[in-house]
Amino acid sequence: MKFIIGNWKSNGDIDKKDSMIKSLKSVKTNNKVILCMPFHLLGGGNSVVEIGAQDISLYPNGAYTGDISGQMLKESNVKYVIVGHSERRKYHNETNEIVRKKSENAIANGIIPIICIGESETDKKAGRTMSVVKKMLLDSIPKQGDFIVAYEPCWAIGTGVIPTTNEISAVHETLFKALSKIGRDTTPILYGGSVNPTNASEIMSINNVHGVLVGGASLKYDTFLPIINAAK
Ligand code: PEP
Repeated sequence: MKFIIGNWKSNGDIDKKDSMIKSLKSVKTNNKVILCMPFHLLGGGNSVVEIGAQDISLYPNGAYTGDISGQMLKESNVKYVIVGHSERRKYHNETNEIVRKKSENAIANGIIPIICIGESETDKKAGRTMSVVKKMLLDSIPKQGDFIVAYEPCWAIGTGVIPTTNEISAVHETLFKALSKIGRDTTPILYGGSVNPTNASEIMSINNVHGVLVGGASLKYDTFLPIINAAK
């Protein structure tokens, strides 16, 4: 089973969500399809697609204006939440430590964190990809509980540029080995960054790629459906 996870970011409205959920209802798939929505669109879903969240507060309920707590997500029937997306790391200064705490907070509320890691273009050019992603992984994951990892090179997000098959394979192998070493070898490792209907099948056939995290192409049924169908 592969994971096909969409990330709508700060996009979408009630009509777009309803139309997507309705269209996906009749899709036949054995894979896990999740759409991570902005907070006002949480809840709902159907037998084909689950609705996940894009962030979780670092804190429990209390005086944290604007934060959406783990308990609130749980009450909205959220089972999966993205944490540490590169946009949150970049625009909200989220560190590995914050990402780890958010992951632990999700787990404490019965929610599976989808932990994003990935090197910058500067790291890649300097040949630091492996060391950077390994450190991000080990510093961002929770001490216990199940989680999903999404390898998303920052330079591939929303750019239309993706790593080569060999590059994706090498990073996923490094992540798999690092997870195996700490007894987490069953952790799903997804690839994210400019996945589209044309490249999805090849990406998902790479060893140790257990699915994809999709931004732009998850916004429209016409581009999301072929990605779901590309998962064998
Ligand atoms: C993302 O933001 O997680 C992402 C992978 O975006 P895109 O597919 O648009 O590159």
